Amino acid sequence: MADADHLRARRIEALRLEFGKLYGVEPTAWFRAPGRVDLMGSHTDYNDGFVATMTVDRDTWLVLRPRPDHRVRVASLNLGGTAEFDLGEIERDQAVPWTDYVRGAAAVLSGEGHALTGFDGLLHSTVPFGSGLSSSAAIESVTLLGFAAVSGISHEPLQLALLGQRVENEFVGLACGILDQYTSVLGTAGHALLLDCRTLSSEAVSIAPTLSVVICDTRAPRQLTGSEYDERRAQCEAGAAQLLGRPPGQARLRDVSLELFEARASELDPVVARRCRFIIEENARVLALAEALPQGDEELLGRLYDASWAGAIELFEIGAPAMAAMHAAMDEAPGLIARRQAGAGFGGCLVAIVHSGEVEAFAGHVTREYHGATGFEPSVFDVRAALGAGVVEPG
Ligand code: ADP
Ligand code: MG
Repeated sequence: MADADHLRARRIEALRLEFGKLYGVEPTAWFRAPGRVDLMGSHTDYNDGFVATMTVDRDTWLVLRPRPDHRVRVASLNLGGTAEFDLGEIERDQAVPWTDYVRGAAAVLSGEGHALTGFDGLLHSTVPFGSGLSSSAAIESVTLLGFAAVSGISHEPLQLALLGQRVENEFVGLACGILDQYTSVLGTAGHALLLDCRTLSSEAVSIAPTLSVVICDTRAPRQLTGSEYDERRAQCEAGAAQLLGRPPGQARLRDVSLELFEARASELDPVVARRCRFIIEENARVLALAEALPQGDEELLGRLYDASWAGAIELFEIGAPAMAAMHAAMDEAPGLIARRQAGAGFGGCLVAIVHSGEVEAFAGHVTREYHGATGFEPSVFDVRAALGAGVVEPG
């Protein structure tokens, strides 16, 4: 705990220092939003399904000071370049793409009819980028919070999450579901969430104290491209439409039971059938996981995770060589209970459930094995569920 306090104090100091260098004044408001990891439920969100999701204790901070005009200036301690634009003229920036998350937040809020106030801001994230822990939802949530606060707008948490999804869908251009933004905003400290992506409601799920959630980041460049993501979405929609006899776009795999699927699978294109089977089975696994987590049922956790991983590789085909190497690096790892993909796949992280007392030994083993096999230095760390997006009291 002393370590965490120390890191927090250093973070506050670094932000104050850089803010002073950039703008010559102190920031007046501080906000944070966490990243997240899915404990079960790959690609189920845009199928109106279920996800077992959890915030992580890594987050993105935005510190700012309102401006008397309509200009916005934002820098990041993580990446070079700055966002600098007028609220009356919000456009994408090809040169410094990360600023699109800031511009997008302003554009979506303006589009809602809000008169926004400008600010000078500085970002800092401890969520790794592009690993599947959703640094993008964190920057969206925190920037929306910042704009809302300086402009005197208040949102219900769910509204904020939906606005964040619109930033990503409409401005950044990724057709993601609601999972990432919902978790970042509505996450509960110390608990996972069982999220119903149709009703946009969730319930807190406790995690047995014998279990630790460990992120195993391959740190190999992720190969996820918008086109593969969009292709999976389209295949799921096509399968649902055919199985439910509805027009494309008006059917979701959430409504296809395993029985219906089994009876009609042979009518589907074989690739579409594989995609559908994965989603339908993955949805059922989410509900089973929500029972297994509080009880710490290790045998069941292992089985559910193994089936999710096998389906992701063989049916949904979202694997990558680095993911396979990370999976193999855990083969003999001490304390391992369960392991599967995290995020959208095509690289990025795996998530493991590990005996609480053995996290250090687990991390050492996995790091050595993965490095030996690939030459890449992975990042292996345990996470705890943190509170969803809100203000920071820097003290
Ligand atoms: P993921 O959400 O899995 O981390 P994405 O590709 O969706 O991966 O989002 C990562 C991108 O979000 C980064 O490449 C960067 O453009 C942007 N981003 C997130 N946090 C910050 C930050 N603190 N400063 C600058 N850019 C950020
Ligand atoms: Mg993202």
